[in-house]
Amino acid sequence: MPDTDSSYVHPKCYANTRGGCSTTISGEHYISHALIRLYTFDDPGVRIQPTPNYRIPVGIQPRRFVANVLCTAHNNGLSDADGAALAFATFLRSIALRYMNGAGTWGEPDEVEVSGDDFQRWVLKLLITHAAADVFTERNGERVTTLVSDEAIDLLLDRAGWPSTWGLGVTGDLSNAHLSFDPFTRIETVTSDWWSAAPLIKHDPKLLFGGVVDLAGVSFTLCLFNQSEALLHDDEINPLHRVTQRPSSLSWVLNGVPKTVRFRWSDPWEHVPVTFTMQR
Ligand SMILES: [Zn+2]
Repeated sequence: MPDTDSSYVHPKCYANTRGGCSTTISGEHYISHALIRLYTFDDPGVRIQPTPNYRIPVGIQPRRFVANVLCTAHNNGLSDADGAALAFATFLRSIALRYMNGAGTWGEPDEVEVSGDDFQRWVLKLLITHAAADVFTERNGERVTTLVSDEAIDLLLDRAGWPSTWGLGVTGDLSNAHLSFDPFTRIETVTSDWWSAAPLIKHDPKLLFGGVVDLAGVSFTLCLFNQSEALLHDDEINPLHRVTQRPSSLSWVLNGVPKTVRFRWSDPWEHVPVTFTMQR
C-alpha cells in the first residue's frame, strides 16, 4: 500500500491528491497485464496493436501498453483490483472455451467468489487511467480531455465509502442494448473482443462521471453520481436504464445448471442476485 505518512506529491501521478506518492512513475497498464496474458494464451511473442486514440502507431509487447500516469506506490496499492478482474475473466473464459457456443460441454454447476469492492475499484481504475492519459474519444473520433474528481481518487484508494446511489451496475433488463451479458456465444469474446471502456462525461467543465466497461462479454456500468433517476429513463441513448446496482451474484443457467460469480461486498447496501437463463 502507499506510504500514507508521505506527503510527497508526484506531479504526474493522478492519485496524488493527498500525497502518499513515491518519487518514481510506473507504467500503468491501460488494461491489466495479467488479463492480456490470459487472452493471448501467455504467448511471449505476441504483439498488440492499440486503436489510434492511444497514439501507439506500431504493434507492441503487452507489457508496453502503459500510460505514465501513476506513481509506483499508488500503482502497487491497486493490485487487488487487478486480481478481482482476473478471477472474474478467468472463470468465464474457461467455461466459454469448454462450451464452444454449444459445440462443447457446459459441465457441472460451478462458481467463483470475487471481491465486489475490488472489482468495482478495477472498473474505476480503468476509466481513470484512460481519462488521465487523455485517450478517450468523442463520437466524432476527437480525443477528449476529462478532469478526474478528488472524490473519484478517494474511492479508488479506498479512503471513502461509496454512496448507495453511486457505483457498479449490470444490466437488469435485456432490452437495454447498451449492455452485454453474453460471455459464451461469440468466439470473439474469448479471443479479440474481450474488453472495452467508454466514459460517461459531465460537461462544463468536462468531468469523468463514470463509464461502461466490458470484460469477458459482460458490461459493467460505473457511476460517480446519484444514478437513481437515470435508472428509470427509457431514453434510447441511456445506458443506465434498469441497471441493477452491485449484484450479489451473476448466474448463467443452461438446462438447470448454473455457473455463478459471487460478489463479496463490505458496504452496507442491498445486493441482489442476477440470473440469466440461457437457451440452446
Ligand atoms: Zn502517487
